[in-house]
Amino acid sequence: MTTKISQEEMAQQRGFMEKVAEINSKGSPPVAHVHTFGCQQNVSDGEKIKGMLAQMGYGFSDTPDGADIVIFNTCAVRENAEDRVFGNLGALKHEKRRNPDMIIGVCGCMVQQEHITRKIKQSFPHVDLVFGTNSLHMLPQLLYEQLTERKRKFFIPEGDGVIAEGVPVRRESRLKVSVPIMYGCNNFCSYCIVPYVRGRERSRELLDIVSEVKRAISDGAREILLLGQNVNSYGKELGTSFSELLREINAIDGEFRICYMSSHPKDFTRELIDTIAECEKVTRHFHLPVQSGSDRILKLMNRRYGREDYFGIIDYIREKVPDAALTSDIIVGFPGETYEDFCETLSLVERVKFDSLYTFIYSPRKGTKAAEMPDPVSADEKGKWFRELLEVQGRIGENAYNRYVGRTFRVLCEGDGRTQSSLLTGKTPQDVIVDFEGDRSLIGQFVNVKIEKAFNWALIGKIIN
Ligand code: SF4
Repeated sequence: MTTKISQEEMAQQRGFMEKVAEINSKGSPPVAHVHTFGCQQNVSDGEKIKGMLAQMGYGFSDTPDGADIVIFNTCAVRENAEDRVFGNLGALKHEKRRNPDMIIGVCGCMVQQEHITRKIKQSFPHVDLVFGTNSLHMLPQLLYEQLTERKRKFFIPEGDGVIAEGVPVRRESRLKVSVPIMYGCNNFCSYCIVPYVRGRERSRELLDIVSEVKRAISDGAREILLLGQNVNSYGKELGTSFSELLREINAIDGEFRICYMSSHPKDFTRELIDTIAECEKVTRHFHLPVQSGSDRILKLMNRRYGREDYFGIIDYIREKVPDAALTSDIIVGFPGETYEDFCETLSLVERVKFDSLYTFIYSPRKGTKAAEMPDPVSADEKGKWFRELLEVQGRIGENAYNRYVGRTFRVLCEGDGRTQSSLLTGKTPQDVIVDFEGDRSLIGQFVNVKIEKAFNWALIGKIIN
């Protein structure tokens, strides 16, 4: 069951923050190293970990060398990310020998898996603290216990997940701010570990989100990224919807852009597309992961839509938001996929004409249904299919950005240019990178940029009044 952490409990955690801050005020200021592995949701959790540590008196360093506390905020999506965490943990053994008072903590999705915590318990005795995604807000208490008792602790409460409001945040950027709107996922796509490690879908109250966005805007944010594993199903259990949330945020005063991730085609309704079309602050970039063009494979993936449903969504987007940019994710070589299935994916890609694609060769995740399915196609064969897909998309995407040449867009100046550092950079409302000449004092402001030239991954433009 989903639990919103009570105000009393949050006040208790603030009390522990004060106690740790008091301990820390006695010596030279302590230093923390927080390393986040993984997705945007993890980055957002990392900002909370740093927010709590900052309030407890910690400064930050980019390396674990000499740090008083090291926290690895981990990801479970890919096995190689897990291997990297174990590699980094192994490397800390020597540092801990040099500095036995150092506290080493591991949190995030990876430790929600039993075989992982078992491995940490047995093979990494120098790890002091392991805490799950449901206990992030309890870091002050867990840290206080570490500092006062020095006992190894594994704290991974059972349950479908919690929502903790009021955790301090130390944002990576003042200009571009991530705001989680929901946690967890109910979809159980057969290749994905997320529902097992992040629990069931639970949405934050609309008013809590809107006030966080208002605060961020008045602190200087110009891009708000609304985060969730499946933002399109936001608010179902609260009697609201993602459309309603977008309308509320769009109505906040000031010039800023609203982006969101991740989307699931099954919940991308016509109402949502109408809302986006009407809300001028919402990005014109639709990233709709299709994963496969074969109905048979989509069924095995448990995606709960077919290729015709997908075409229906795309056609409606093109009708309502004609200048939209469309991108997608595709998995090549899902267990049981045949070349005929793969050709269906190619034909979907030809029909939709995505601006760009994120393509992956299937890799099994322990604990998912897909990992148990027979997978007879060789890695070589999958590699061939993968290259064929890249070729097809390369041809389609080659001149996709030419359509922007000659047009003028409102662009947020984000920083130094990506094609040349003497230029400034930003993104069009379609999320396409554009570099242009201008003074650095414009960073953080919106300007009108006329597009003069297109490469296949970026645009060059000129500021006009
Ligand atoms: S929608 Fe599917 S792929 Fe996305 S997080 Fe949920 S289960 Fe994973």
